[in-house]
Amino acid sequence: MAKKKAAKKTAAKAKAGKRVYFFGNGKAEANAKMKALLGGKGANLAEMTSLGVPVPPGFTISTQTCSDFNQLGKKWPRGLKEEVAKNVAKLEKAMGAKFGDPKKPLLVSVRSGAAVSMPGMMDTVLNLGLNDAVVAGIIEKTGNARFAYDIYRRFIDMFGDVVMGCHHAHFEAALHKAKVKAGVENDNELTAEQLKVVVEDYKAIYKKDVGTMFPQDPMVQLTHSVNAVFGSWDAPRAIKYRQMENITGLLGTAVNVQAMVFGNMGDDCGTGVCFTRNPSTGKKEFYGEYLINAQGEDVVAGIRTPLDLKHLKKDMPKAYKQLTALMTKLEKHYKDMQDMEFTIQEKVLYILQTRNGKRTAEAAITNAVDMVKEKMIKPAEAVMRVTPEQMDRLLHPHFDSKVARNVIATGLPASPGAAVGQVVFDADVAEAWAKAGKTVILVRIETSPEDIGGMDAAVGILTQRGGMTSHAAVVARGMGKCCVAGAGDVVINYKKKSFTVGKTTVKEGDFISLEGTEGQVILGKVPTVEPKLSGSFGLFLKMCDKIRTLGIRTNADTPGDSKRARDFGAEGIGLTRTEHMFFEGERIWPVREMILAADDYAALLTGLADTECKKEAAALNKQYAGAKKQFEGALKKLLPYQRKDFVGIFKAMAGLPVTVRLLDPPLHEFLPQEVANQKEMAKRLKITPKKVQEQVEALHEFNPMLGHRGCRLAVTYPAIYRMQARAIMEAALQVKKTGKKVLPEIMIPLIGSVKELAIVKADVIDEIQKVFKEKKSKMPYMVGTMIEIPRAALTADEVATEAEFFSFGTNDLTQMAMGFSRDDAGKFLGEYVKQGIYAVDPFQALDQTGVGKLVEMGVKLGRKTRKGLKCGICGEHGGEPSSIDFCHRVGLNYVSCSPFRVPIARLAAAQAVIRNK
Ligand code: ADP
Ligand code: MG
Ligand code: MG
Repeated sequence: MAKKKAAKKTAAKAKAGKRVYFFGNGKAEANAKMKALLGGKGANLAEMTSLGVPVPPGFTISTQTCSDFNQLGKKWPRGLKEEVAKNVAKLEKAMGAKFGDPKKPLLVSVRSGAAVSMPGMMDTVLNLGLNDAVVAGIIEKTGNARFAYDIYRRFIDMFGDVVMGCHHAHFEAALHKAKVKAGVENDNELTAEQLKVVVEDYKAIYKKDVGTMFPQDPMVQLTHSVNAVFGSWDAPRAIKYRQMENITGLLGTAVNVQAMVFGNMGDDCGTGVCFTRNPSTGKKEFYGEYLINAQGEDVVAGIRTPLDLKHLKKDMPKAYKQLTALMTKLEKHYKDMQDMEFTIQEKVLYILQTRNGKRTAEAAITNAVDMVKEKMIKPAEAVMRVTPEQMDRLLHPHFDSKVARNVIATGLPASPGAAVGQVVFDADVAEAWAKAGKTVILVRIETSPEDIGGMDAAVGILTQRGGMTSHAAVVARGMGKCCVAGAGDVVINYKKKSFTVGKTTVKEGDFISLEGTEGQVILGKVPTVEPKLSGSFGLFLKMCDKIRTLGIRTNADTPGDSKRARDFGAEGIGLTRTEHMFFEGERIWPVREMILAADDYAALLTGLADTECKKEAAALNKQYAGAKKQFEGALKKLLPYQRKDFVGIFKAMAGLPVTVRLLDPPLHEFLPQEVANQKEMAKRLKITPKKVQEQVEALHEFNPMLGHRGCRLAVTYPAIYRMQARAIMEAALQVKKTGKKVLPEIMIPLIGSVKELAIVKADVIDEIQKVFKEKKSKMPYMVGTMIEIPRAALTADEVATEAEFFSFGTNDLTQMAMGFSRDDAGKFLGEYVKQGIYAVDPFQALDQTGVGKLVEMGVKLGRKTRKGLKCGICGEHGGEPSSIDFCHRVGLNYVSCSPFRVPIARLAAAQAVIRNK
């Protein structure tokens, strides 16, 4: 309560116009909670001061002031001048020193610092307050002329470069010249006399670049510097960084004016950076680097090679002990790994900054798990410390970030990971090369199911066209394989076996690298680092499991995928697509036989349905006997293949539910589209190529997405789903016999009307009853439906009278609700997102306001009819964190996603619970 009141009071004060907050001598006017107003650096300097950490005193000018300054056209708002003067006086008093006083000069740093850490993006000026008289005074008092000239030349450089727009390179050149002349390598080897010359050179450079003399008045120096820090908020690199990191909604940067301490007064001085834990591995150990006799950013800038923190233990044992004690104290206080800056002046330690350290994905997980073990934080807190993106990164090999990349094109980051391989343009070539031991990257204009083998053989996939849910993208994610999709600048020429990007040509066999998290296409080979899943990884996910309420299933079509997903923690299968079972190897041939007889077979069925005359029926049966035999015979050939597949999947998922979706795509997808392949088919099935071509044409659809597919096929050809239902139940009974538990859930796709479902379901159940009778055995199962046509969602109360479960197929639901197909939307969707018409690509993240409403309505209506109706999601959105949050909120029972996204979903589902508490 008291805290809340205090916060309110400070907020009110801010409104009343307080712009400057003092910290020093154990007291501060601000605290760590005031990051928005004082920036992370300022808020933490205040907090540390109150904690009794040795922090040089100073004051912070608010971010609001930065915003006002920029709005006023780079002018100080009213009252600021007085407030700054008052605080300078206060600082002078605290330090027992005065601006410009040669005997006891006050020297300060002027540092930027926004609410979110933007490392090195904005400006800092050190040693402000120096002028000729002060330098003379310092020499007289300390007898350390080398030191005095060193800080002076640094100040002129920084002030000139950062504040007045001189070229840093000019100063660099002058310093280099001095070092060459002196015959030394490092700046700390220059003598006082030599540095004195450097100072004079610097002043001359300043005058030449700026046009005026270097200002001697500290108040003038300060005003200019504050302006420069405010101005650096809008520097291009700062803007770029905020764009990259998605940082929005901040007022600006705060300015921290702080008394200087010096790490460059001699060999009992130094400056460094340290982390309370290893930011790369997460290991609990003190980690850091420092330089003796150095100042400020010397360590980061790599002026000299810094020493490992371990050496400080020997070099300055007292300071080391004090530093490690403070590291422990601050980490405990902030309850997170800290990244700190320190300076040692004549053996005395000062802390200049602390913040929550940036860390790798691996370190994030290790930290989270360890800190729970250490009882520093609660599991709920730990779970929020790791982002789903970090989790994602961990599961894929990645490029060594230390190696430069020659990025020639950028596409959609369709599937994360890093791949290096030789370019091939054909799926068969990919397979052949892979067999020969080469690593290949499959480059296609777009991919189709015919390319699966080649995609599987490749280490990465690059497409010129297609979106985040294009065939290439979906399949690659399912395979956990790196994919860059829709890289429009990559122009592929299949004939020439090459692609071009601008003037660059890449031929078959050339090496490229793909970065799937950023969508980069890189020329040549970039070295990769394999992901290592530590023990913490498993422990962390167990922590997530304890919190989440959503079930996590996987989309898997093979026993291998099922097992992998199970190892990642999947609690069942939410979607097994059976079309792959029609494609692989030899089975495509009976499928094609079936399709060739399909028209006549359909004619027979309609004829029979239309007549009551027995004679007529007999005539029809005779007329179409061949077609019937061919169609049903083909299905008989498929049955054992499918049954075998299901046996494998049921075994791999023993004890867990498995949702099998009956055939979904239109039949034409199973026919070859290219002439050469059509010829091959004709030869194989002993018919004319013309007949094949005719069938391809007959099955052609103007809009296959809205065509003859899903349950519509089953209404026309009930035998197909009957065969599948039989294969499923025969497999289930077979596995059950071995003592394993099987929980089959048969899912009927593309339902728009309850009547459709009733008809198809009746057939499926009838076939299952036959199987039970034949095998003299039975078992529980469910028949449910996908909700993917808007009408099904709108009439979900009716649909639920037949459906025993719902699974929202949000890929199709999105297409049909938004009215564009994911294969064609690529042409304009990017622009739509850019213009903010849609905030994100609705195929990447569920459109919660529109499509989401259909989902929510479907769940509500469905459960009105059937209490406790099990509802899940099996679209690509099932593995996307913001969509998972939505699924949690609308009360779905589970999400289902590709195997490699299962851990991400486990995390996202736990975060959803915490976030929505
Ligand atoms: P950044 O945000 O880029 O890290 P900082 O404002 O932290 O910039 O400052 C840059 C460097 O100057 C850091 O190494 C910091 O420790 C050092 N520094 C800043 N203020 C002082 C000071 N008052 N005394 C000594 N060193 C300082
Ligand atoms: Mg800086
Ligand atoms: Mg810093």
